[in-house]
Amino acid sequence: MAASEVGATPTHCPYCALQCGMSIAAGAGTAVIAPREDVPANAGGLCQKGWSAAEMLDVPDRVTGPLMRAHEGAPLEPVSWEAALDAIAARVTALQDAHGRDAVAVFGGGGLTNEKAYQLGKFARIALGTSQIDYNGRFCMSSAAAALNRAFGMDRGLPGPITDVGDADVVFMAGGNVAETMPPFMRHLSRLKDGGGALIVADPRRTPTAARADLHLQLTPGTDLALANGMLHLAMSEGLLDEAYIRDRTSGFDTLRTTVNSYWPERVERVTGVPVAHMREAVRMLAAGRRSLILTARGAEQQAQGVDTVTAFINLALALGLPGTEGSGYGCITGQGNGQGGREHGQKADQLPGYRRIDDPAARVHVAAVWGVEPEAIPGPGRSAYELLTALGTSGGPRALLLFGSNPVVSAPRASVVEERLNALDLLVVADFVLSETALRADIVLPSAQWAEESGTMTNLEGRVLRRNRALPPPEGVRTDLEIIRGLAVRLGAPGTWSTDPEEVFAELGRASAGGIADYSGITYERIEREGGVFWPCPSPGHPGTPRPFLERFATPDGRAVFTAVEHRGPEEDVDDGYPVYLTTGRVLAHYQSGAQTRRVKQLVEASPEPFVELHPDLAERLGVEPGSLVRVSSRRGVSVARARLTDTIREDTVFMPFHWGGEGRANTLTNPALDPVSRMPEFKVCAVRVEPAGPHAQDPLPQGFR
Ligand code: SF4
Repeated sequence: MAASEVGATPTHCPYCALQCGMSIAAGAGTAVIAPREDVPANAGGLCQKGWSAAEMLDVPDRVTGPLMRAHEGAPLEPVSWEAALDAIAARVTALQDAHGRDAVAVFGGGGLTNEKAYQLGKFARIALGTSQIDYNGRFCMSSAAAALNRAFGMDRGLPGPITDVGDADVVFMAGGNVAETMPPFMRHLSRLKDGGGALIVADPRRTPTAARADLHLQLTPGTDLALANGMLHLAMSEGLLDEAYIRDRTSGFDTLRTTVNSYWPERVERVTGVPVAHMREAVRMLAAGRRSLILTARGAEQQAQGVDTVTAFINLALALGLPGTEGSGYGCITGQGNGQGGREHGQKADQLPGYRRIDDPAARVHVAAVWGVEPEAIPGPGRSAYELLTALGTSGGPRALLLFGSNPVVSAPRASVVEERLNALDLLVVADFVLSETALRADIVLPSAQWAEESGTMTNLEGRVLRRNRALPPPEGVRTDLEIIRGLAVRLGAPGTWSTDPEEVFAELGRASAGGIADYSGITYERIEREGGVFWPCPSPGHPGTPRPFLERFATPDGRAVFTAVEHRGPEEDVDDGYPVYLTTGRVLAHYQSGAQTRRVKQLVEASPEPFVELHPDLAERLGVEPGSLVRVSSRRGVSVARARLTDTIREDTVFMPFHWGGEGRANTLTNPALDPVSRMPEFKVCAVRVEPAGPHAQDPLPQGFR
């Protein structure tokens, strides 16, 4: 049966921010998926994660009823929904009576629909009255978001429709490996190259994306900022600046000039390892292109200087006159499925819906009116994700955590400490559809519906709001997150309305966002359906949406983009005699984020069954590491064991580990939680490690239960 047959439901992939269009034919037996041709992001393509996504719907260990422990140390046992929700409400109330409102925290996810992210933020603020809410998107795009807000006054991933990538003359990608993370994106890069355009990639590894590049800048991990400043220095010395654009559309360039003067090419080559000739070639290509795009992804952003690194690339783009010009500009390649929408509507610690600041009095008045409460009832800003997770169970920290759509035991930096903090809680509630590594530690597990079993909207990497449609009902005993939130809000006596209808919640989100930066008030389900998605901001029903937001002016008070001088500081933790090798982390083709979903899909597990350490053959020889043998990787935070994979595509001073697994092979046992001072993004992408043969008695790196 083909999914395109009558009865198939048009929707979007459950995984990454490309949000590929797909159809699901769900009848007797397993649902069948087919790609959609009418969605520009994938135009008929899917990666193997998308093709196999239907398998997740009936994984054998799906949780189909609430589970609860009778007491600490007791096993998780089935209970009724009423018993589970009553118990949560009673324990939350008791903890807040004893320790104050902030004794209860909420943790969300960048994969949640806009409706869920909105409702979760509202639930935390006016049902629980807590300031303690943040989400795993803090670990993903927060540095790019902060830099975009600083430079353009607005954070929207790509500067225009994704088809601009194929239409461009030059695309420069820093720290992105779309060939593995979102393979259909390569169709746009193929079109670029077929049309005579050029691709430049900056990455410490010759990834499958870098292998397709016309120019690969194989820089030392953590030196992207120096590279960007060095390229800007070259643009200045070679007379490649767009002086008229700088004069007419920007401010602050003069303060930048002095800083960039000190990034002379030979100095930058020493810092980055990138030859001057390559830097010069790259900047000449970007300046010569009629349409040039500079894109960053997690490699450049997940650093303790991530905001400044993105700022340096934006400075380069501005100096060349790219942003706010049709088909050109700077963009962030968003990672998580709703990484864009998930950061706009209130699950961030410092934010209210519509990308409003929670400490802005006018924003509080507006949102309070929509919620039916007084502005004073809305708490102030709370802790950022890593600070929140490490405050759990401490003196003065939250005593309970309600967690939706996240698996921090695998995905948080220095994850062993996060595990300890979760264990120290009085109450951990996890809403998930399987027993993830985090759900296994919960006191109460609430089984939630999956992507194809409920409707909602997602905002993809372009800033286009899309509809995800329900294709089949959830299994009996499973509830949607909106139903779970309502069940708890009612028991807690929360003010306001708590609809479980996604379309009603979206309409309320629209009202709450009206007048904000991310204004969705002109978007309806019917419009999304009819128009194939709507780009925000869209402030009224008659507004066409905004595919290219900065053509006339930037979203700053004076309409000009802002240059900010930034200095390369280097990684928080550099290599030394004890830890002489850089570790960088990332994703592989077959898996997504913490792997809680993809490690349950047979063909994805067969494609990529276990964690590994990628290292250069020369480094392996020096260390006495055999191909396929187990190696021990140690950092100042812990030890991981994984199988060695030798390749000359990585620098000799760097090893790579994917972060999709828990257990002995968990990459995030090693990573450095040093935080960017502005975005509070942890430094996932670079830390110092020691690598050695693990010896014959090393433990198998595969976590139990995931073979
Ligand atoms: Fe598309 Fe991403 Fe899904 Fe792959 S995982 S099919 S690239 S949305």
